[in-house]
Amino acid sequence: MKVLVINAGSSSLKYQLIDMDTHGVVAKGLCERIGIDGSKLTHKNTAQKSETVFEKPMKDHSDAIAMVIDALVSPECGVIKSMDEIGAVGHRVVHGAETFADSCVIDDKVMDALRACVPLAPLHNPANIIGIEACAKLMPNTKQVGVFDTAFHQTMPEEAYMYALPYEMYKEHRIRKYGFHGTSHKFVSQEAAKFLGKPAEELKIITCHLGNGSSVSAVKNGKCVDTSMGFTPLDGVVMGTRCGSIDPAVVTYLVNNCDMTAAEVDSLMNKKSGVFGVSGVSSDFRDLSAAADEGNKRAELALKMFAYSVKKLIGAYAAAMGGVDAVVFTGGIGENDGANRKAITEGLEFMGISIDDAKNKIRGEVADISKDGATAKVLVIPTNEELMIALDTERLLK
Ligand code: AMP
Repeated sequence: MKVLVINAGSSSLKYQLIDMDTHGVVAKGLCERIGIDGSKLTHKNTAQKSETVFEKPMKDHSDAIAMVIDALVSPECGVIKSMDEIGAVGHRVVHGAETFADSCVIDDKVMDALRACVPLAPLHNPANIIGIEACAKLMPNTKQVGVFDTAFHQTMPEEAYMYALPYEMYKEHRIRKYGFHGTSHKFVSQEAAKFLGKPAEELKIITCHLGNGSSVSAVKNGKCVDTSMGFTPLDGVVMGTRCGSIDPAVVTYLVNNCDMTAAEVDSLMNKKSGVFGVSGVSSDFRDLSAAADEGNKRAELALKMFAYSVKKLIGAYAAAMGGVDAVVFTGGIGENDGANRKAITEGLEFMGISIDDAKNKIRGEVADISKDGATAKVLVIPTNEELMIALDTERLLK
């Protein structure tokens, strides 16, 4: 069976067609500038190693999906003879609130529940819903599955997900910690268990998804028991342009004393903060490392703050789980940036965490980088959210 994985954004749509026998990507691509002048589809055929660009107006996501389907069945650059070869479509959905603790097959009731989640993710969920509606229109006989960034974290106990606000804030406004990147944390924790040759049910794993957005999760016995992102993806570790955890009183201080509106504070904390805001250099860790190497003190400080914020969470989550068997690094930084992995784990030897410098040179492939004899394994595991979505889709069809 082949599963089409769709990740719809407000003006873009990414897709992968995955062969469930091999878990390989048959084709993938990106529709850009949907509903804007200059829309284009870039389609990659894995077997041909070819890339084809279609420049054609896409007024909405239905046009985009129609173009994706045309590309997939095209005699020149296509990979299937007809749409019948697509067994199901798996959709990434950012927010499933408390309604969705697992992926699910989409029907009318699910669509209503998805719409009810929109206020919690007003920038992301509407695009995800439009993507589902467009697929349902063009492929009415193909099953569709929703896979939620929040679902894996729904197993957190209430002492971990509640905020110490008046209880009505939770009951009336659904304000609590939800967590994000769940598909990635689930994938790498399952892969870590496979790599270690032990059932996930017997392991305490700390997963560090470190990229433009970063989050850390505590996964005990295969279930998430805590995670660093919160009500929104702004909370937790220092990120590329997001501030992560700060005293919430800073928000009211900025509004009351610095002549800023709530929207301006929101933009400041989401887009102008993090390592970018501290360094004034870049949100990209490659640029930051280069600047720090040249003696830029603020770039050096930003890198130190990032590593410290991740390190503290590793300690906190080991405490939450009563120990740690493995720390997993994933995401653009986690998979590639050995210096950061080193900075994060330095000083954690007392917890049995110790990196081997030679093994830590690894980039972008599955590896155990812990020192021989260390009691906790440190693993690098490239994430694959699309494959996780396809695997969940296949599981639900069975
Ligand atoms: P992601 O959001 O997971 O795609 O991660 C993107 C981030 O990973 C970029 O902003 C970079 O900061 C970081 N990154 C990617 N490759 C490298 C690398 N080779 N060394 C250091 N950082 C990297």
